[in-house]
Amino acid sequence: MSVEEKEYDFVIIGSGLGGLECAYILAEEGYSVVVLEKNHQIGGNLQVFSRDKSIFDTGVHYIGGLDEGENLDQFFKYFGMRDSLKWKRMDEDCFDLIRIEGKEFKYAQGYDKFSKSLIAQFPEEEEAIMKFCSEIKSICEDFPLYNLKSITKDNIFGDIDMLSRNAYDVIASITSNKLLQNVLAATNGLYAGEKDTTPWFVHALVLNSYLTGAYRLMDGGSQISIHLSKAIRAFGGEVLKRKIVTGANFHEDGKIKEVVLSTGETVKGKNFISNVHPAVTIDIFGEKRFLKPYVRRVKNLPNTISSFITHIVFKENTFKYMNYNTYCVNDKDVWDCLNYNQKNWPKGIFVCTPASSKSEEYADCMSIMAYMDYKEVEQWETTFNTVAQKGERGGEYEKFKATKEAKLVEEVEKMYPGIKEHIKSVHSTTPLTFRDYIGDKTGSLYGILKDSNNPLKSVINPKTRIKNLSLTGQNIILHGVLGATIGAFVTCFNHVDKHKLIDKVRNS
Ligand SMILES: Cc1cc2nc3c(=O)[nH]c(=O)nc-3n(C[C@H](O)[C@H](O)[C@H](O)COP(=O)(O)OP(=O)(O)OC[C@H]3O[C@@H](n4cnc5c(N)ncnc54)[C@H](O)[C@@H]3O)c2cc1C
Repeated sequence: MSVEEKEYDFVIIGSGLGGLECAYILAEEGYSVVVLEKNHQIGGNLQVFSRDKSIFDTGVHYIGGLDEGENLDQFFKYFGMRDSLKWKRMDEDCFDLIRIEGKEFKYAQGYDKFSKSLIAQFPEEEEAIMKFCSEIKSICEDFPLYNLKSITKDNIFGDIDMLSRNAYDVIASITSNKLLQNVLAATNGLYAGEKDTTPWFVHALVLNSYLTGAYRLMDGGSQISIHLSKAIRAFGGEVLKRKIVTGANFHEDGKIKEVVLSTGETVKGKNFISNVHPAVTIDIFGEKRFLKPYVRRVKNLPNTISSFITHIVFKENTFKYMNYNTYCVNDKDVWDCLNYNQKNWPKGIFVCTPASSKSEEYADCMSIMAYMDYKEVEQWETTFNTVAQKGERGGEYEKFKATKEAKLVEEVEKMYPGIKEHIKSVHSTTPLTFRDYIGDKTGSLYGILKDSNNPLKSVINPKTRIKNLSLTGQNIILHGVLGATIGAFVTCFNHVDKHKLIDKVRNS
């Protein structure tokens, strides 16, 4: 039977991590599923690309919570991903190196090592560092679903007081030492944190996950999407590429009958799950199908800032592999890196050398990431360019890219003098690259910005007004590999017995 003739139990729009995980869970439960992906490659932010035979990750550089028995380890065992993928545990004593004000600070794995390492550099701040750790552990314990032990609670988002605490305020209340405040918040690029709005729970959940097992995937994050799609197919499901969902046809009762693709083809289903940004999902299914206040709210929610990323390919065996990331901040306030101008960009960079099976000793390549506002590329926003839909953005855009790229190369030359000598080639991505490949509106790094001032406003319910349409992905609970995974389970709780499913995860 052709795709157009079938009626699937679940039609999933988008093959990002959330979409693939929903498809896996539902197919494993015996439902017929099809995943429709607009791109040439599946995985959304898990996609990789290769230049000069080096593999680069687009949107996953390291993954946390993977030590034995930790939350993502348990979820990934359920998906069969702990043994079958090639993982590399990052340095025990330093998985993240923080460079601020010319000094270096090491984030070590495990609370004990993490606190000892920082106390060695801030001996007078021992009490504050211990309090910081206990505050993180306590919020992680209380956050239902993040902690598999408290998963039986019905409220998946925890209580409002917990969501309303602001990350900057909590850290400032723990210590008045400005340098330590900066060090404790230095990895806020992991969620594109904003001083006035980022909730404490976001900082705590993200940092806790890396403290409980920080790993890289050897040869790229696409291992995850390839594994999941193979498993979905083994359960009888389908994962189809180059299928752009542009609209839908409805039954008289308002339920979706079928989605319409850019080619005019249709795919019928009983249920539909959108892994696409909620604001874009509204456009696909039509504003009039949702309540006006919902449309207004979702479309007006601010999104996290975008990024400019430069990828360097090294000459063979010339630059040593670093089994840690570096966060280099060129500002007195780590929360201010987003507020840059043309003169002081970049105020902060993230640097990593991806793990490659080619060599343990030498780095194959390096990625350098800096925040970039979508406004910087807005003048080229009518252009579009992906592998599936080729296009040109023009000479001025290429010049813009080259200037920014050179700036980031200079930044790493300052950090590692002589690195330029080892460069074979350089490649870059801009907010438009992310916009086109992921399908949101501004190439946002992590989707909708969480807001401690109004926490429920930025929480998206996976259920929608259209009875057979749910949402999944980084926007519903939390971004990141762990966040999108938790989100996939929450979405599937609407369709499968939640307790039985979680028991399966616990017993995996
Ligand atoms: C630069 C960067 C670095 C990151 N680093 C890390 C990291 O180190 N660790 C970590 O845990 N997380 C990291 N993240 C975050 C993480 O990658 C994401 O939160 C997560 O992968 C999002 O998954 P998702 O399920 O929301 O799907 P997405 O990745 O958002 O995918 C959505 C999918 O929907 C498809 N789609 C869109 N529109 C349509 C349509 N009309 N029809 C069909 N398909 C459509 C898209 O093509 C895409 O495949 C990073 C993100 C970025 C951008």
